[in-house]
Amino acid sequence: MLSGPARALSPRFLAPPPINLHKNRTNLTSTSFFQPRASPSMTTSASASVEEGEEEIAPCQGGSGVLEGGMVSLSEWQGWGTDSPLPATVVAAIKEMMDLEREFGDKMKFGGVGSKIKGNLRVIDDKKKRSVYAKLPDPEQKLQYFTARQVACRLVGSRGYLCQKCWLPKEDCMCSRIVPCNLLHGIRFWLYMHPKDFLRQNNTGKLLWQLFGNQAATMCVFGIPEQEEIMWDAFKSAGKDTIWLLYPNVNSSPKSVGDINLDRSFSEENKKKPLNLVLLDGTWSNSSAMYRRLKERWAAIWGEEDLPCISLSSLGASVMHKLRPQPAWDRTCTAAAAAGLLSELDLREELRGLGLDKQADAIEDSLDILLDVLTARRRRMGRSITRKERHNNCI
Ligand SMILES: [Zn+2]
Repeated sequence: MLSGPARALSPRFLAPPPINLHKNRTNLTSTSFFQPRASPSMTTSASASVEEGEEEIAPCQGGSGVLEGGMVSLSEWQGWGTDSPLPATVVAAIKEMMDLEREFGDKMKFGGVGSKIKGNLRVIDDKKKRSVYAKLPDPEQKLQYFTARQVACRLVGSRGYLCQKCWLPKEDCMCSRIVPCNLLHGIRFWLYMHPKDFLRQNNTGKLLWQLFGNQAATMCVFGIPEQEEIMWDAFKSAGKDTIWLLYPNVNSSPKSVGDINLDRSFSEENKKKPLNLVLLDGTWSNSSAMYRRLKERWAAIWGEEDLPCISLSSLGASVMHKLRPQPAWDRTCTAAAAAGLLSELDLREELRGLGLDKQADAIEDSLDILLDVLTARRRRMGRSITRKERHNNCI
């Protein structure tokens, strides 16, 4: 395994944002998340539709319907990789789908990209969903509804089909190949995840909590209030000087890992004030909206314009190059970014010899396994494994 600066990193964690990022600020009051194609403000180029189109098409599943599967329970919810309470918005979204089944005496089916609703109820549901969305009075409610619908469909449509731990179809479960390890005490990752990445098979952020556990690497879905509150409560109690977002530098003074204040304890006792490292887990085009949401909350709490962002400086021989062709690598590289971050931290004097290099290697090993599994699956299913050109907007 490579160590030090020569690690595989996504351009999105290294390069400056697209030029039009600021021009295209998401205005949630005027943006419908349910437009057939992402609105210009959510899509910095045509890449979003390409990315989504390339997501693996799951066979139509969940034929038993929403009613028969029943309401999601707390243990089912937490089984997917979170310690958070069951989100009320997701419960309401599932109830809405159940009501539709009752009303029309039919069962919903799910399949395809993002566990979309299939079958007879698809059009009716779509119409109803858009009407509910249009009537919601404010952008916050619209975002929460959009997220809840995304999460609810993925939850219900993945029941019995995906392994809850690794989010892969059960026949490809990779859990037995993952060797959990401890992340250095005093470091905590936050995976701020776009709902379209939730339960996505080729998402890589999930590898972090599979390896390090939910407490050391915590999923927080964009627009799920219960999870966002947990994250911000943790941030407030740890203090603003403990929080760093890995995001290409958009601040007036670019910062890197070298700027992180490490004057703190990394012992087991320091659980209250860890170094909080936030990773945006979603496509590049979706990450700008997530960044803005974080920035707005930051400003509301601390009254400061700039959310502390760092970018990685490493760019070199990529361990991923040797693994290509591989499915959809460029947009699923959150775990590689986490490994790069740990590697760069390992180079800091204060953290030398504390095992961060090993933890970075563990992430890359798990990434190798995921890529092996996804590649084998695509081969088995007769799909192309050739890497296609994409993401021109983040280079
Ligand atoms: Zn599994």
